[in-house]
Amino acid sequence: MSSHSSENGDKSGLPQQAGSAMPGGALKKWRAGVLGATGLVGQRLIKLLAGHPWFELTEVAASERSSGKTYAEAVRWHLDGPIPETARSLIVKGLEPSLECDFVFSALDSSVAGDAEEDFARAGYPVVSNSKNHRMDPDVPLLIPEVNAAHLDAIRTQQKNRGYKGGLIVTNPNCSTAGLVLVLKPLADSFGLEKVFAVTLQAVSGAGYPGVASMDIHANVIPFISGEEEKMESEPQKLLGKWDGARFIDAGLGLSAHCNRVPVLEGHLECISVSLKKIASLKEVCEVLRHFDSAELGALPSAVRHPVVVLDGEDRPQPRRDVHTGDGMAAVVGRIRECPLLDIKLTLLSHNLVRGAAGGALLNAELLAARGFLNHRVHAEGEKQLPQPVGR
Ligand code: NAP
Repeated sequence: MSSHSSENGDKSGLPQQAGSAMPGGALKKWRAGVLGATGLVGQRLIKLLAGHPWFELTEVAASERSSGKTYAEAVRWHLDGPIPETARSLIVKGLEPSLECDFVFSALDSSVAGDAEEDFARAGYPVVSNSKNHRMDPDVPLLIPEVNAAHLDAIRTQQKNRGYKGGLIVTNPNCSTAGLVLVLKPLADSFGLEKVFAVTLQAVSGAGYPGVASMDIHANVIPFISGEEEKMESEPQKLLGKWDGARFIDAGLGLSAHCNRVPVLEGHLECISVSLKKIASLKEVCEVLRHFDSAELGALPSAVRHPVVVLDGEDRPQPRRDVHTGDGMAAVVGRIRECPLLDIKLTLLSHNLVRGAAGGALLNAELLAARGFLNHRVHAEGEKQLPQPVGR
């Protein structure tokens, strides 16, 4: 997702309505803050927010190592192209919940994200998180808009349970789970799912910066990523499950994951085998994946019309060649074939920092805006913005 100015949707999965009108006739952009703005995910968010049609970046926050400096001084910039002008001269703040913005993205290290996100929500800020801390909370939506937008209904319960007034927390899944569940969702809807067996080959950028030491990962594979298999085995249950009005009901899948770190910069590859409740041919599986459609999210600037893209080449997808498909928001699938143990097997790829983190969070924030969960907060000078009429 390099820009929101001119791309139009097509079957390759590119953003469908870039430059969309503000939802519900809102008259001005929502002001966004980014907690953890100096990290790998934070930097992606800063870049994606530059020129966003609904949101403008007004605050950046990080650790004491960075606070008090300008963003340009504090950040070790890892992305192609310059630091966006919208961020360069912003002063990096600490984690006090008194930022001049209407909502915050959290890309904080998990050692601090849990408490900080609660502090902001308690102070009235909607928090759109990338961190693991609140994903499995019983009243927090773990959200992929194409998969389980209905889970937003849990927010009213969350606000009631926790006494949040306008504040809320929504989270996106772990970076490997995001791509996996995008692919599982159409299969679950059409055929039903019984078991999923997954082996991941995960990029080094999934570990943040500086991440894994070069001496450990160069010309090597590390068959262990702390906590990753547990997340991959639990988060899909919530994502593919239901909110029954009072609690989340798990999907009841049999899931087993092996997670490996490989010397790839960006893009998590996953080899999966799946057993289905209903017998399906390879052709039917392929068609269902190709036709998975997010038309109902068409008004969201970061939504792609076809979030799963199926490639025919026998040696695809590949991280270096395919990771930017749909500007990093699509899960790319190839090698769909019969599995001698379960029913079908395939290879999938998704961009860990875009679909699996910053892009996923941005889409979640856009859905919150479209569903009326973002408000314009009172300005510092006391000027009060009229509530915006937004549709659900
Ligand atoms: P990262 O590069 O290590 O960045 C961490 C950020 O947290 C930095 O901005 C850092 O600020 C800030 N921070 C660290 N300690 C802090 C403290 N005590 N107080 C305030 N701020 C503090 O990590 P990342 O890869 O961007 O990941 C960010 C979050 O997203 C993590 O929770 C991670 O698990 C999650 N996530 C990452 C990915 C991925 O592919 N990388 C995918 C999905 C989710 P300073 O620069 O000032 O130290």
